[in-house]
Amino acid sequence: MKEDQKFESDIVQGYTKPTIWCKFTELAEKTNSVNLGQGMPDWQPPKFFMDNMQKQFSNTAFYQYTRNVGSIKLCEAVSRNYEKYFKRKIDPMTEVVIGAGGVNVLYIAMMALVKRGDEVVMIEPFYHDCCPQIQFCGGKVVGVPMIPPKSRPKSEFEKITKDVKDVWTIDFESLEKAFTKKTKVLYLNTPNNPTGKILTYEELHKIAKILEKFPRVVVLVDEVYEYQIGDCQELPRMSTVKGMWEKCISVMSAGKIFNATGIRIGWAIGPNSLIRQLNPVFQYSSYCIAEPMQNAVAESLDMANESCEGFESYYKWTANHYKSLRNHFLENMAKVKTFDINLLCPESGFFTLGDISKLKSESKYILPGDENEKNLSYPKDYKILLNICNQYKVVGMPCSPFYSKEHKNIGENFIRFAFSKQTSTLDKAIHNFSNPVKDEEEEEDDDDDDDKKGNKSEKKVRKALGKLGMTKINGVNRVTVKPKDNNILIIKDAEVFSSKDVENTFIIFGELTFDEPDKKAAKEELQKFTKEGETLQKQGETKTEKPIENVVIEEEDPNAEVNTDGLDQSAIDTVMEEGNCSKAKAVKILRSTDGDVVAALLKLTDN
Ligand code: GLN
Repeated sequence: MKEDQKFESDIVQGYTKPTIWCKFTELAEKTNSVNLGQGMPDWQPPKFFMDNMQKQFSNTAFYQYTRNVGSIKLCEAVSRNYEKYFKRKIDPMTEVVIGAGGVNVLYIAMMALVKRGDEVVMIEPFYHDCCPQIQFCGGKVVGVPMIPPKSRPKSEFEKITKDVKDVWTIDFESLEKAFTKKTKVLYLNTPNNPTGKILTYEELHKIAKILEKFPRVVVLVDEVYEYQIGDCQELPRMSTVKGMWEKCISVMSAGKIFNATGIRIGWAIGPNSLIRQLNPVFQYSSYCIAEPMQNAVAESLDMANESCEGFESYYKWTANHYKSLRNHFLENMAKVKTFDINLLCPESGFFTLGDISKLKSESKYILPGDENEKNLSYPKDYKILLNICNQYKVVGMPCSPFYSKEHKNIGENFIRFAFSKQTSTLDKAIHNFSNPVKDEEEEEDDDDDDDKKGNKSEKKVRKALGKLGMTKINGVNRVTVKPKDNNILIIKDAEVFSSKDVENTFIIFGELTFDEPDKKAAKEELQKFTKEGETLQKQGETKTEKPIENVVIEEEDPNAEVNTDGLDQSAIDTVMEEGNCSKAKAVKILRSTDGDVVAALLKLTDN
């Protein structure tokens, strides 16, 4: 047995490598691209939600176990808020279970329902994480592909109206054939990730009709995008179709409702006969979720019914907000001449899909972490995304992972971009799609022309920075340095280059405006930051900022040098001598708290 197979288990086989979420997020980070991959929003949750969180966490009474499958307060709030949609009474104690986010609730449901040899019918494409879950139970995925809409000319997207929607259709004949004696679960995802399809009542009835012939089948309805529903007034719910309540488990997510995908709270609603199957899987794995968070979600579910920014409720605001983001992205992308992949206009959700069926699939690029992989061969959608990342500095998600093994070839014809991003992030992506990066060879050819324009030096400097592994941090036009005294230094209109290889090395070009506000202002500024891995985001419309922590600012030092340890000296020389940098002056020096120079702030000047 090979050393690396020592701990292998057939349960997780094929899933021990980093997920697509990790891989493509890392690709965006490593290449400083706009990340339209993983579908999380990049703006803050609503204020009432954050206030509720703060209030609940400051109450010391809530730091112990709660009722194991959901705090009474949250179960009651869920029942109160969903009775109107489910058109029936929901018993908070027996017909609701709270889990650690939508994915976890799906997982406990699969674990509770699917045993070795059982089959799970899935309409494709489907939310990717269900595949490993079914494998973990020993079940088998039976995929039924939807029929994609025909791509249409970009001009039709210049103004998105109610009628401009690309709707995927279900092949009911194939769906019916997919059911066998072994089928235990039908997984429905409406609104669907990644297509944005909302199942209509007509479709739900047809499905219910098929299920009459298969009485042991339970329907797991993933409704986590229930409020991102575009023009639809209210999501059609399978549970309300005649005879279906007894067979349905419906899954929702607080993370999706409140733009807080990291808080990990989700719930399932269903008849007690089903919910009580899920309870033990959750209570013997996690026992319960943090009570302050459950309470805050409970209060927020109620408060979300109050009017919000001119809308009847926060829920209505949400539907409109996502719709505007979708329209903004697609309407502007329709005008981009330098990107010729046709995007589809979804009915709902976070995502638009690009139809790449007509593109050739060749790529010389690889995903981060695959450098030592032998016999590397990516599916077409991966290759096209790697090319797009290289050419446009925008990262999306492949769609083949959203299909079963048997149908991945269909998924390879689509790529996914998330529009669940601030307008400023979408604008950055639109800008990048409009300004493709040229290949190095092409760039060499252009050098003569540039000479005339006097751009040659600048280009050389930028190339040398590239050689140093110093790449421009996208989206930064303001840098905030947090020195140890907690004051703040803000450099406006900065272009920041950083190196992934040499930690804490930054070269910052630009007009430097120093602003050292008083302690109170500094504190307020800092409070706006939330740290999520290495990505730092800021509320509101301001661009992404990258704080450099634990540094001391020293006064002007004309002899200051950028920390060059581990960097290619000839490239450094190019940066300093060739371009405007020969005239640059180190204005301030940043030292780490143990005394090393971590960066010099360089001001480009002609004198
Ligand atoms: N649901 C998210 C998406 O489709 C990803 C969830 C996750 O990263 N686990 O992008």
